[in-house]
Amino acid sequence: MSGHLAVVGLGPGDARYLTPEADEALAGAQALYGYGPYLDRVPVRVGQIRSASDNREERSRAAAALRHAAEGTRVAVVSGGDPGVFAMAAAVCEEIESGPEGWRTLDVAIVPGITAMLAVAARIGAPLGHDFCALSLSDNLKPWDLVERRLDAAAGAGFVIALYNPVSRARPWQFGAAIERLRRHLPAATPVVFGYAVGRPHEAVNVATLEHADAAAADMATLVIVGSRETRVVLRPGRSPLVYTPRTAVEVSA
Ligand code: SAH
Repeated sequence: MSGHLAVVGLGPGDARYLTPEADEALAGAQALYGYGPYLDRVPVRVGQIRSASDNREERSRAAAALRHAAEGTRVAVVSGGDPGVFAMAAAVCEEIESGPEGWRTLDVAIVPGITAMLAVAARIGAPLGHDFCALSLSDNLKPWDLVERRLDAAAGAGFVIALYNPVSRARPWQFGAAIERLRRHLPAATPVVFGYAVGRPHEAVNVATLEHADAAAADMATLVIVGSRETRVVLRPGRSPLVYTPRTAVEVSA
């Protein structure tokens, strides 16, 4: 098939975080698909068709984009951050696997972007400087008890944990429950970083301890990084603290 489908990461917000490769893929597309607020970040180009859809419609958006590409069109599907991190690239792969045989012959490119946890980490120091993992707290596509088991395993194994999707309107209690869960494993003084809308004009990055972490401090635009037993806070006069995880782990985490 002659069509082309690019799944493009826009980065966390600021246009400076858009890679030149992503910019090129967007400029060369005849049709753009994505969640409305992400599409709004893409400069309008004459002659380009834009198709905005709702946040939860990932599979149907992926299918529509694939159908369009199969007609011979150059299509770009956009994601915030990186398209492979809790985003559209996997939805596109799911559709290709279960869709018409012809979709497997399409030219598909995944164009990476800076994911939220990397943007937040860079603002505050190096909290991901040693072993870490990333979890989505959304239980839309997996049961909550699996989330809890993964939190237990990750904290128990001494990973720093990046939490995507901490809350949404439909999921008001999950982040509070996750914090409670992590308190069973980690010391009260464990640093917790709240990165809100990083790379956008109203961004904010705050540090709390696990003991005082306030579940109400996170919203849909927040990425939370929960430290490990090794994670440290360096206070600096007149400057914001540096939160980092040393490159060496000296003890077995309990
Ligand atoms: N593909 C995206 C993640 C999509 S899941 C990426 O790679 O970043 C959506 C979640 O990502 C949000 O609930 C939030 O936890 C996080 N997120 C996305 N953009 C963010 C930003 N600019 N600042 C902080 N967190 C962000």
